[in-house]
Amino acid sequence: SSNPGTTPATTNEAEFDASRAVIPGGVNSPVRAYGSVGGTPRFYASASGPHVTDVTGRRYVDLVCSWGPALLGHAHPEVVAAVQEAATRGLSFGAPTHGETELAETVLSRLEVDGRRAIERLRLVSTGTEATMTAIRLARGATDRPLIIKFAGHYHGHSDGLLAEAGSGVATQGLPGSAGIPADVAAQTLVLPYNDLDAIDAAFAAHPGRIAAIITEAAGANAGVLRPDPGLNAALAARAHAHGALLILDEVLTGFRVGPAGWWGREAAGLEGGPSGGSTGSTWTPDLVAFGKVIGGGMPLAAIGGRRDVMELLAPLGPVYQAGTLSGNPLAVAAGLATLRLADEAVYRRVDEASAAVSDGVAAAFSELGHPVTISRAGSLFSLAFRDGAVRDYDDAKAQEGWRYRAFFASMLGQGVALPPSVYEAWFLSAAHDEAAVDQILAALPVAARAAVEA
Ligand code: PMP
Repeated sequence: SSNPGTTPATTNEAEFDASRAVIPGGVNSPVRAYGSVGGTPRFYASASGPHVTDVTGRRYVDLVCSWGPALLGHAHPEVVAAVQEAATRGLSFGAPTHGETELAETVLSRLEVDGRRAIERLRLVSTGTEATMTAIRLARGATDRPLIIKFAGHYHGHSDGLLAEAGSGVATQGLPGSAGIPADVAAQTLVLPYNDLDAIDAAFAAHPGRIAAIITEAAGANAGVLRPDPGLNAALAARAHAHGALLILDEVLTGFRVGPAGWWGREAAGLEGGPSGGSTGSTWTPDLVAFGKVIGGGMPLAAIGGRRDVMELLAPLGPVYQAGTLSGNPLAVAAGLATLRLADEAVYRRVDEASAAVSDGVAAAFSELGHPVTISRAGSLFSLAFRDGAVRDYDDAKAQEGWRYRAFFASMLGQGVALPPSVYEAWFLSAAHDEAAVDQILAALPVAARAAVEA
C-alpha cells in the first residue's frame, strides 16, 4: 500500500545500484541479498509493529522481524522510549553500569524453571558471533582440549571454527564453508549430522580425551527449522558430560523468542516432552548458553551464560580472555531490559497463536493444490520445505525443490508480505502480528502457493 499523492524520492533499484558501488554486494550481511529469490532487495526506510516500509513508501507485513529480535514487533514505543532516555545519559562509557547488572539478574532469573537454574553467571557482548566464539574458547580453556563438535546445518555466527556446513546464508549461497579459514583451524571442528546420537558416540570414541564441547542450536533454525528429536538435548548433555566435555547451547535465535526461558525453558517445563514424552520436564543443564537477538530488543547485544566455575575462568578472574569496547552498551542494555520486561506470557501466547495461524495457512494452501510440502515447527518458529517427509537434518533440508521458493517469495512480496529471502530460513512472527496482519498473510498464501507449484 503505497502513499497516494507522494512521489518517492528514490527507488529500491537506485538504492541498490548506489550501495553496490560502495558495499560488497550492496548488503552488510549476505542473508539480506535477494540472490536466491531474485529481484532487488527492498531498502527499508522505517518499521512499526508488524510492518516494514521501503524507500518508495510501500508497506509490507514483515516475516523476518530483523531475523528474530523484534519479538514485540518493530519500534515498540516503550522500547524506543527506553533507548531515547538512555541516550540522553550518554552513548557509551567503557565502564560498568547499573543496567548491565540488572540485565544479568533478569536473564539469570528467567532461566530458572522449577527452582533449577540453567546459568549462574552472564557476560554481555555485542553479537551472537562473539557469544559462541567466547563459549568455545571457554570450553577449551576449561577442558584443555582442542576439538569441537558442531552439527551440519547449524549456524553459530561467522567465527572461523564455526562456518563449516553452517546453514543460513552459507547454505543459501551453496557454499560448504568459507574461504580464508586455514585447514588446521577447520580440522578442530568435527561436523556431524544432527539428530544422530550414533555419530556422537563414534566421534567421542575416535577422539578420546580431545573433544572440548558439543555446540548445538537449542532447536535448529538455520537450515529451515530442524527440530531436535525428543530427548536429544538431554542426551547431548549426558554424552558430553560422560566424556568430560561441555555442552554449549546456542539460544541466540530461540532464547526469549520461543518462550520466556527459551528452548531450554520449554524442555525444562515439559512443553516439549522428554525421551518418554512425559510432561514433568527434563532435568538436563547446559554448561554454557549463548544468547543474542531478542535479548537486545533490536540493538547490538548478546551474551554468554553458564556455570559459575566455567564462567569465572573469564578475565579478569581467570585465564580465558574476552573483551569489548561496546560490550554492555547502555542503549542496547536499555532496549534489552525494556523488551524482556514487556515479554510476558501474553506476548508469547500471541506469537504462538499468530505463528500457528500462519503455518497452518501455509500447509492448507499447498494441500489445497495437492502439492506435498513439509512445515517444520519448533515452538513459534517454523519453516517451509518443498519436499515430502520430515526434515530432521541438513541433508533432508537440502533435498528439496528449493527453486520453487523463488516464485513463492516473489508472489508474497508482490502481495505485500516480506518473507525471509531464502528457503533455508525460519519465518519470524511477533506479538504485533495482529489479526489484520495475519489475515493479509493468509490471503496472499493461495496465490503464492500456486505460483510455487507451477514454477
Ligand atoms: N547463533 C544462532 C543460532 C544464530 O541464528 C545466529 C544469527 N542468525 C548467530 C548465532 C550469530 O549471531 P549474530 O548474527 O548476532 O552474530
